[in-house]
Amino acid sequence: MALIVQKYGGSSVADTDSIKRVARRIIETKRKGNDVAVVVSAMGDTTDELIDQANEIDTQPPARELDMLMTAGERISMSLLAMAIHAQGERAHSFTGSQAGFVTDARYGAAHIRAVKPDRVINALHQGEIGIVAGFQGVNSIGDATTLGRGGSDTSAVALAVALGADVCEIYTDVDGVFTADPRIVPTAQRIPAISYDAVLEMAASGSKVLALRCVEYARRFKMPLHVRSSFSHLPGTIVVDDGVDPRTVPNIG
Ligand code: ADP
Ligand code: ASP
Ligand code: MG
Repeated sequence: MALIVQKYGGSSVADTDSIKRVARRIIETKRKGNDVAVVVSAMGDTTDELIDQANEIDTQPPARELDMLMTAGERISMSLLAMAIHAQGERAHSFTGSQAGFVTDARYGAAHIRAVKPDRVINALHQGEIGIVAGFQGVNSIGDATTLGRGGSDTSAVALAVALGADVCEIYTDVDGVFTADPRIVPTAQRIPAISYDAVLEMAASGSKVLALRCVEYARRFKMPLHVRSSFSHLPGTIVVDDGVDPRTVPNIG
């Protein structure tokens, strides 16, 4: 039995059928005897669409209002995912970034996480529920919603995993792991079964968008194992750990 944080990106929850599929996957992990907390991104291109709508009104919208708007995307997916889990016979409870205790600085659009106090998520897990947390968002010291920068749900997931003391942070996406190059652009790219934080940081810094840079930095700092894998298959994916750590020690890889 392990404590597992799973993050599902926008490509994995693009429509309601995908949300039902992801719910099945979460329940499968839970029914193997694990405690499961989930971080979810906005559905498909929702964040881009919200930004487009804002720009149709004002090409330079107030940063506070843009963050208020963008955080709505993850609020939709978190509640639909909790409903899908209920509909499939397990109990789940969704939380906004603020409710999940993500305290950030005041930099709207690119806020940094200052502290994560996920007491309500811990309570939900203790009740045998699945905790669902909206990615990409937090709350600043004056109580306003903030966002962490594009792709920030990866960072939310690692920060939650660290705060909960999870055994692994699983990042579910639309490719089978971290590849030697973007597999959508380079068809001969090879999946990397295991890689160090340093090597994946270099990839993120050189523009590979499979993992957000800050998420990898956070994972490295707290030695949180990452498992990047597809939500569309049960293939093994990529384990990210420090050099010298046996990737086979990471739970739920089979
Ligand atoms: P999500 O919606 O799950 O957050 P992203 O679009 O942020 O997904 O990231 C997954 C995408 O990253 C893949 O579809 C792939 O095209 C791209 N990508 C870029 N470089 C790599 C790489 N080296 N390995 C795997 N995927 C990569
Ligand atoms: N929904 C946000 C974005 O599109 C955060 C994320 O997906 O990680 O950037
Ligand atoms: Mg992403």
